[in-house]
Amino acid sequence: MSDVIALGQPTVGEAELAAIAEVFASGWLAGSGPTSRRFEERFAATVGTRHALATSNCGSALHLALLTLGVKPGDEVIVGDYTFPATGHSVMWTGARPVFTDVRPDTWTVDPAAVEAAITPRTVGIVAVDVFGQPADYDELRVIADRHGLFLVEDAACSAGAAYKGRPAGSLADIATFSFHGRKGITAGEGGAYVTDREDLSSHARKLLSYGVESALNRAELSHLAIPAFTDLGYNYRLSDVAAAIMISQLDRLPDLLATKRAIAARYGELLKGHELITLPYEAPDREHPWQSYVVTLDARVDRGAVAMELRQRGVQCTFGTYASHLQPLYGQADRCPVSADLFVRHLAIPMHANLTEAQVETVAATLVDVVGSFAAR
Ligand SMILES: *Cc1c(COP(=O)(O)O)cnc(C)c1O
Repeated sequence: MSDVIALGQPTVGEAELAAIAEVFASGWLAGSGPTSRRFEERFAATVGTRHALATSNCGSALHLALLTLGVKPGDEVIVGDYTFPATGHSVMWTGARPVFTDVRPDTWTVDPAAVEAAITPRTVGIVAVDVFGQPADYDELRVIADRHGLFLVEDAACSAGAAYKGRPAGSLADIATFSFHGRKGITAGEGGAYVTDREDLSSHARKLLSYGVESALNRAELSHLAIPAFTDLGYNYRLSDVAAAIMISQLDRLPDLLATKRAIAARYGELLKGHELITLPYEAPDREHPWQSYVVTLDARVDRGAVAMELRQRGVQCTFGTYASHLQPLYGQADRCPVSADLFVRHLAIPMHANLTEAQVETVAATLVDVVGSFAAR
């Protein structure tokens, strides 16, 4: 199995181990402690927002985003269709209904015209997804949101280090949410973040992420014994300080990881370009793609399932892209998103992570070209 080329792989090592050892020595391993606060300050500075809260994952950050924006049962929230389950699920956790909306055929992010068409009197907001990390059309979405009095949330799960018109992902909406799951660009195994410029939202979220109780760290800093009262039905959505320590090291690595993946994406582009059955991913000229995944679109004549099985047989890990949410039985919706439905059946994700060698990138590309050619209907 050692010859298998992994689809995704974290880049972690001595720096992260040393950071963990420091937290052990400090005695504060629980969440929302001094190390989490240090990470939050670093992360806010990285994404260019006033506030950042470390959370247990991106799903919990999305849930907090919707709760702090006041989403309630009976509301409708417009969601970019081509995404991971967390985006639609988090809307359902509030009792509201996700209204899945089709995506652009090139960037795969939500189509602003489709958003506009999906607005009803019940619509309260929009959750745009930075698909595989590439930011959505935030200027156009902001205009639509403002015109209709809607909130705008950025599901930035995959987009740490990405940019839109020179602005960092995370700073592009009222609230943005990140994931630090093992398959994302920077990781502590599990983890997430909620970021915003708005003090009212951030202080409400800070409470909700810790059972609705003022944090122990804030209380420890007071000169009297503070007994908190709980007014909100909060959750335990904290990131542990052990994970926060790992994340501080990962932020140190972020520029290198991005540069390495950018070079790999460019190399794939050279090796795969011009193939009649393979369409390369598109990076919009006004955006910086962080390449959380590298996803190609196979021609409709190619048997994707057979290609994927043969690639795996030859030691090249691969998978589908992400989900056409409107087709998932849980949501039971009649929404129509033909572009997303098409991407769902034709996308193939191939190995992309910062530990790939030049030789592995060449092997992946050569194997893909060979296998695609042999599973295409003529
Ligand atoms: C991975 C992902 C999530 C979920 O992240 P978790 O940290 O596992 O909750 C949400 N949205 C998108 C777009 C993702 O890719």
